[in-house]
Amino acid sequence: MAEKLGKPIGLTAKPTHSQEFYDSVKRKFAEERDLRLKYRPQGLSQYTSELTGALAKYEVDTYAGAVTPREPINDTVECLFVGGGFSALLTSARLREVGVESIRIVERGADVGGTWYWNRYPGVACDVVAYDYLPLLDELDYVPKDHYAGGPEIFAHCQAIARKYDLYKLATFQTTVTSTVWDEAEQMWHIATDRGDHMKARFVICANGILTKPKLAKIKGLETFKGHSFHTSRWDYAYTKPDLSGLEDKVVGIIGTGATAVQAVPGLGAAAKELYVFQRTPSSIDIRDDWPTDPNWARKLGPGWQARRRERARMEPRMTEEQKAKQAATSPEEKIRRQENANMEAMMRIHQRIDQVVKDKATAEALKPWYMLMCKRPCFHNDYLPTFNRPNVHLIDTHGKGINEITEKGPVFGGRQYEVGVLIYATGFEVQKTGTYNQIKGANGLDINDKHREGVRTLLGIHSQGYPNLFVMGGLQASFQFNFTDIAEAQGEYIAACIDYVRRHGYQSLDATPKAEEWWVQEVIEHRGKTTFNQECTPGYYNFEGEFQRRQDGNYNGGFFQYCNHLNEVCARMDAHFAFTNKPLTSD
Ligand code: NDP
Repeated sequence: MAEKLGKPIGLTAKPTHSQEFYDSVKRKFAEERDLRLKYRPQGLSQYTSELTGALAKYEVDTYAGAVTPREPINDTVECLFVGGGFSALLTSARLREVGVESIRIVERGADVGGTWYWNRYPGVACDVVAYDYLPLLDELDYVPKDHYAGGPEIFAHCQAIARKYDLYKLATFQTTVTSTVWDEAEQMWHIATDRGDHMKARFVICANGILTKPKLAKIKGLETFKGHSFHTSRWDYAYTKPDLSGLEDKVVGIIGTGATAVQAVPGLGAAAKELYVFQRTPSSIDIRDDWPTDPNWARKLGPGWQARRRERARMEPRMTEEQKAKQAATSPEEKIRRQENANMEAMMRIHQRIDQVVKDKATAEALKPWYMLMCKRPCFHNDYLPTFNRPNVHLIDTHGKGINEITEKGPVFGGRQYEVGVLIYATGFEVQKTGTYNQIKGANGLDINDKHREGVRTLLGIHSQGYPNLFVMGGLQASFQFNFTDIAEAQGEYIAACIDYVRRHGYQSLDATPKAEEWWVQEVIEHRGKTTFNQECTPGYYNFEGEFQRRQDGNYNGGFFQYCNHLNEVCARMDAHFAFTNKPLTSD
């Protein structure tokens, strides 16, 4: 199947059209973006993740059952992780390697896994090659079953890491951190939770993940819907049944067509009596070039094979002398023009594939994305487009407008009521919001959100001056990678090295100096906003739904290679970047 489909189109497509053609495509991209910005000038606030009151049911854990009662915990650990996904697992593994024994994961879910705990919708999988995405493969002596891993395999791998590094022993599940307050005299963090716990920790690592809290579009009448409804990250298998046979006699609606919906729709289309897919902006759907792992290849890998792959991901892209000379001779405008043309070419091939696969012409047209590749998370799927050839599957394209009204019977669009028995929200997650839910107060009592109100200020996206021994993973001002575990691994190694340094020198804490923080803020500012790519994109979470952002309030855009270099530089000269305290502890 995969061989017949061929290789993904990616950005390898060579421009074949005239410049006039590309100019006209670019104009169409701009029109489509402007249409959406006009419909939603409110930007990020079109969504809510305040899932309380009538909306609280959308956040309830559908996998764990009732919360297991336990006594509040009042103890002290050395390292405490807020969140138990890959960031925490990877960093814990590195901490174990430097001899840290006292590690606690505090996690809202009933197990480790983070994203892979919550996202269990039918078809869930990762679009990053499994040999790169799944971390600690050398350490666990594991080779993924296929080129791309499915959700259950990844979740099981998370559990295997937790077992291997003995992380279940101190973990507290079904527990949400509510506040994290630094006690300067004790040189300790005090952590309160929704279970009445009062824990202390020398080091706190915010490993909350980048897409953590489910969000819903603020749609008029959403809470009045009388049928069954849930968010994709809280899949209700008790209702749908694990094989989705519970949907056989149901009319199902799904709102949203992002990366999650693209994976869920084929299964839903096959199972439901009728499926309505409510689309606001189509995703770009490339070929998923998947295959089972060749056992002969796996046998020959040899020790350290994944570490070598990771090393390659961190390397500066290599260019021949000829390529370098060509680059130097090309003006910045020309470089951008060529990149844009290649990008548009790729999108036109994605359009062609839609025409080849989707039989109904109007549906095919509606499924065509009109924006540059990478404006939204690119998707890879072989069954999503063919699903629209099923007679029971209906695409309701809202031409950028979205569903703005739901009645007790279901969504309304264009004056038509769509009556559905089940409504599934594939409307995504809040992005990079560390510290918003678990209030973080630093050395001078300042809430970290108040500090960042005038502009995010960090060192490497990890430390913030005035918040000693606090490490943020996957936060703003850090590099952002398509393969999330690349960044989690780089940051995890770095954080373990920092903690090891503090312990070896007999210090109690480290805190970024104001000078080091200012250096990093300027680095971030220098590298952001060099091109207008983000501004020109259709709104989505990659560009803060088209909202204006200060240059410092985003990710570090100097490249992963440079980011890793900076991590290494800071590690090599710790005393130039941090203030250390070696006060004795006053308690415990
Ligand atoms: P997204 O935020 O990507 O998508 C939300 C979807 O909801 C968009 O299609 C959005 O439309 C739509 N939407 C919002 N409001 C309305 C409305 N009122 N009416 C109709 N549609 C609406 O969330 P996902 O959960 O799909 O994905 C989140 C991220 O998770 C991905 O970007 C990716 O990083 C990760 N992921 C990765 C996967 C992988 O490896 N393959 C799989 C799944 C998720 P619009 O586009 O117009 O805003």
